[in-house]
Amino acid sequence: MVATAQPSRPKLVVGLVVDQMRWDYLYNYQWGEGGFKTLLTDGYSCNNTIIDYVPTVTAAGHASIYTGTTPAIHGIAGNNFMVDGKSVTSVQDDNERAVGGDAKTRGKSPRNLITTTIGDQLQLATGFKSRTVGIALKDRAAILPAGHHPAGSYWYDGNSKTFVSSTYYMDKLPRWVTDFNKRHREELASNVYQLPVGTSLTFALAEQALINEGLGQGEATDLLAISVSNTDMCSHYHGTHSPKVDSIYWQLDRDIAHFIEVLDQRIGRGNYLLFLSADHGGTHSYPRMTAHGLPSGCWSNPEALKAANAMLERQFGVKKLLKAEMEYTFYINEEAIESAGLDRDAVMRAACQALEEPEEIQWAIDVSRIDTYPIPTILKERIKLGYFPGRSGEIYIVPRTGVYAGKKDEAGSNHGTWSQSDSHIPLIFMGWHVTPGETSRLTHMTDIAATVCAMLHIQAPNGCIGTPIME
Ligand SMILES: [Zn+2]
Repeated sequence: MVATAQPSRPKLVVGLVVDQMRWDYLYNYQWGEGGFKTLLTDGYSCNNTIIDYVPTVTAAGHASIYTGTTPAIHGIAGNNFMVDGKSVTSVQDDNERAVGGDAKTRGKSPRNLITTTIGDQLQLATGFKSRTVGIALKDRAAILPAGHHPAGSYWYDGNSKTFVSSTYYMDKLPRWVTDFNKRHREELASNVYQLPVGTSLTFALAEQALINEGLGQGEATDLLAISVSNTDMCSHYHGTHSPKVDSIYWQLDRDIAHFIEVLDQRIGRGNYLLFLSADHGGTHSYPRMTAHGLPSGCWSNPEALKAANAMLERQFGVKKLLKAEMEYTFYINEEAIESAGLDRDAVMRAACQALEEPEEIQWAIDVSRIDTYPIPTILKERIKLGYFPGRSGEIYIVPRTGVYAGKKDEAGSNHGTWSQSDSHIPLIFMGWHVTPGETSRLTHMTDIAATVCAMLHIQAPNGCIGTPIME
């Protein structure tokens, strides 16, 4: 009998996702010692990593990073989408209850995610000895990366101003989480979404998970999925390059430095594999761009819905022929079309025409006929990779490049489009079996899971379409 070679694996994989971190942020700041600087010098940076689908938003991004596939396959069509005709958030699950929180805190789960993740595959490969923990301020950023059967997933609940979980995972919060909530009560009560303390609290809880769950100390490789959410929330209010966003990135640099120190001490530099990426980038705000004579534009999605519905009502005599707008897609009101006995094709054509009216919109596309549109193949592919039938809207909007959903007089940034601003993300690997260096060849968000799994010699997630980056 021949003994099978046991593949060598790191003790721990650490996934670090920074919400709305544009790739160029890596080079826009003069970093201090130990944080981003260490990632850039000791790590391998893929400088041309692209998101291959629209909409480029948080839930879709976190799901895609950890499944190695896109919304068309993993099912997380956006932050909000339709399931069985009802609008839901990506992780909303009324069959579950909150664990912790207060009476208003709702149950959540990863059930809308229909493919496996890196953590799920680690479990399958190790006889379910591997353990995963997900941590973030945002629920979707903690839940989707942790996969379907983690040791735990914890996020910030704005009602109770504490970290919570859900009955999907457990019946009661572990002692280390309730202790953390007590110990940090004052900081947790502050505006964590807009202040640097939100970053520090995220890492502090991740450190507690590392210690109390004994991650990286077992016989199988564990996974710690951390996501930093306030970088996004703050940028939505104050804009890219605002002093408030800068202060969060400075804090993030310090927190990463400290966390690397903790990992080096507890796990050892060569024993963990860390990757840093983002769920999407961000488009500079209208005031920032136009102040310097650069092209920019804003498009109001609620107004577009109202205007298109008014135009359709004049033509067909039926109200609300478009049901909703979410993530640059519009949902056609099938029930209204049917009960009024309208010609669906005619309504669809008129709806696209109405939505294309504003000069900020380049194309409004009936996805079922996308191959008949004279638009670049690369945009068609991104729309197709983002479209999940029944969950995504049937009409996709392609705004003129540089245009985002927002108001001209507001400083906040936004994202969601195909443009470089939103789809170009940082990607750095550091630690176990990583030789420092960089590449500018085209790599994809979906390559992250493919790469991690190839390095670990485990099967890639079941919907993975990425290719391992093996330099
Ligand atoms: Zn955002």
